[in-house]
Amino acid sequence: MKQFCVFGNPIFHSKSPLIHNSVFYKFAKEIGFSGFYGRYLLQDGSNLRRIFFDLGLCGANITIPFKENAFNQSDEVRGIASVVKSVNTLVLEGEKLIGYNTDADGFYHTISINNFKSALLIGAGGSAKALAYILREKGIEVFIINRSKERLEPFLSDGFKCSLIQDFLPMSFDVVINATPSGLKDESLPLSEDNLRKTLESSKMAYDLIYGIQTPFLKLAKSLGIFIKDGKDMLIEQGVLASYLFCDHKISTHEIRKQMKSVL
Ligand code: NDP
Repeated sequence: MKQFCVFGNPIFHSKSPLIHNSVFYKFAKEIGFSGFYGRYLLQDGSNLRRIFFDLGLCGANITIPFKENAFNQSDEVRGIASVVKSVNTLVLEGEKLIGYNTDADGFYHTISINNFKSALLIGAGGSAKALAYILREKGIEVFIINRSKERLEPFLSDGFKCSLIQDFLPMSFDVVINATPSGLKDESLPLSEDNLRKTLESSKMAYDLIYGIQTPFLKLAKSLGIFIKDGKDMLIEQGVLASYLFCDHKISTHEIRKQMKSVL
């Protein structure tokens, strides 16, 4: 049996085992193997590679806060992961660990029909990076705000417009995206509610990468009558692309998406 898992901390809330196991189970014959996908609570990101090999894994997903560790510990990085410098999917190829980032394309798939021209991105971590680069690549103007200055620096040197979250003044954007874990425990973003409200009022969509709960950010947007979206569709889309890699491209992304949607 081929084994896979998701590494993260916290990890108990992850729905990745549900969606990936359902694909392995449904398509066992077509992919020519039986697979099992579990969850791993990682304490120290520097051990990621060693634990991957100790567990005898064939592939893994990486979530908060270890995507940069995964990037640094990959033998080879492919696609947008090398631009973003953040890896959320690892695949064993021979003896080598190949790193991919499926967050970027997965996220874009969920908003591509909206024809947005501008986005406010709250957060500057691994997923914010994936989003910032794919949005820019698709011609969408991105403004990034974050709590700490250090994490904004790579974005600033790469030409993105940025500001500290504390200094942010209301502006108009087509979509406002929360790419921070703030809200997981019902806490509000460290941003003046008045400024956030004014910004949301002129936007077309409020998008939170967190899934499974309605965060204070989404509650505020909903109370203002703004269209809201949580991270469920992105979870599915990044999972579809990861599963396509795990199954060695033997199942179409259409079939994988249909299966994942049927269990979520
Ligand atoms: P990282 O740890 O890489 O980055 C976290 C970012 O959030 C940093 O910019 C950090 O700022 C900021 N932050 C952390 N806590 C707070 C807070 N309380 N208030 C304000 N800012 C905060 O995380 P990821 O980018 O990997 O993930 C971010 C979120 O997106 C997570 O909740 C994750 O579960 C979700 N996610 C969902 C996906 C999906 O498929 N739906 C896919 C990927 C991620 P600072 O620099 O100041 O520490």
